[in-house]
Amino acid sequence: MSGEIKARGLSAIRTWLFDLDGTLYRGGEPMQGAREALNMLRSVGNPIQFVTNNSRHSAAEIASKLNGMGIQASSSDIVTATEYTGRYLRERHGCLKLAAAGSDAFLVALRKAGHHVLEPGEKGAVDAAVVGLDPTFTYEKLEWLSQTVAAGAMLIAANADAFHPGEGGSPVPETGALAAALETASNMKATYVGKPEPYLFHCALQRCGGEASSAAMVGDNYDTDITGAKQAGLYTLWLTMSGIPAEERPMADKVIRSLAEIVQGMRHGGDKLEV
Ligand SMILES: [Mg+2]
Repeated sequence: MSGEIKARGLSAIRTWLFDLDGTLYRGGEPMQGAREALNMLRSVGNPIQFVTNNSRHSAAEIASKLNGMGIQASSSDIVTATEYTGRYLRERHGCLKLAAAGSDAFLVALRKAGHHVLEPGEKGAVDAAVVGLDPTFTYEKLEWLSQTVAAGAMLIAANADAFHPGEGGSPVPETGALAAALETASNMKATYVGKPEPYLFHCALQRCGGEASSAAMVGDNYDTDITGAKQAGLYTLWLTMSGIPAEERPMADKVIRSLAEIVQGMRHGGDKLEV
């Protein structure tokens, strides 16, 4: 199908997945063309899902943020590492006893997925140490979680991102930075749930009845959005101003400078679009 998309253009895409941070918004501001692109795709009946490594906020919180920026979304459109880390663990290992560091939304989601989550610092044998973006991460939590791993627990991280772009593009430390500290302290490699691993892409497609072969992923992070989606079998659109030659980023099927290019591509019809 990737070949069909190349031949027929963007109108051959049936399902669209979008990253959020740095793709649809940056900080509290929508990206240029975001509303128009989503409205255009919805007007022709294409299912849209938002796939984010965000492990701090719930889908409902993110939907509220999107709606506040004039971008129509509901929590059923949003696949977050916050909510799918617990589901990932349950699908593979059943309901577990967890020591976890993360936001309130992250801990609530782990419990909703059926796991027993210890209170911070609580002693006892656990099956896994789990980390999401924790704005209250401390040395004590690092010590607690690394000691559970030393005692035999799995080490699970919601994503490997070192940072995401905040206001004005300034870096906001992410889950991967905390996971790296845990890996160093415990001398154990973490298992990561979020992009570029295929799990969130598969969940998003399953949720809207889409097929990877006729779906596209739009994202700004080459190493997570683009590489992960390509490996999961999707067509990939890399939103970037980097100026890096396309041949040096072969996992990107198409490089776009603005989301407005999606609108232009759909308006002109597939056969006139260069992909
Ligand atoms: Mg991004």
